[in-house]
Amino acid sequence: MERQIGKTRLLLVQGDITRQAVDAIVNAANSSLMGGGGVDGAIHRAGGPTILAACKEIVARDGRLPAGRAVVTPGGNLPARWVVHTVGPIYRDGGLGEAATLASCYRESLAAAAEVGARSICFPSISTGAYRYPIEAAAQVAVTTTVAEIPRHDFAEVRFCLFSERDLAVYQAAIAEVA
Ligand code: ADP
Repeated sequence: MERQIGKTRLLLVQGDITRQAVDAIVNAANSSLMGGGGVDGAIHRAGGPTILAACKEIVARDGRLPAGRAVVTPGGNLPARWVVHTVGPIYRDGGLGEAATLASCYRESLAAAAEVGARSICFPSISTGAYRYPIEAAAQVAVTTTVAEIPRHDFAEVRFCLFSERDLAVYQAAIAEVA
């Protein structure tokens, strides 16, 4: 599924984000930036030790990364040149600012990627795995925030990579509503 938003192509794909040939992929990290399970583990496994070394430097300098923020490291052995690490909210009941924090992840990740000169970026479904954000609600935040931010930047392509067919269908429905 594909949409054109001004000069930017918005694309949905199903698959493994570590295989995506874009300038920057986004990692759904945790605040320690020390790697973990899910998409985080897959990115560190595929990208090799350069990524963790860069994460350790960032944490030594700036401390743990708060939810909603984003930082950039090299992509190591990945096809992507950069990894944008962002920390999604842990979902509790939706009344603790989870949506605002999740929106901030997408905004800050786009800004961080743009700042290093990335012209294409690929997002996973942030917070909908171990952090238990309900996928329908998360997809709506991901898509509306991204579509609203695209005109502020100069990306040729913004891609969402969904791991399962079901998640892909949920993001497709979210895009059909807003774009
Ligand atoms: P979080 O802790 O932010 O919830 P997870 O990594 O647990 O992050 O899950 C986020 C989403 O990433 C889930 O939908 C999960 O299915 C998906 N995912 C896991 N591995 C990959 C991968 N290699 N490529 C793309 N998406 C993945």
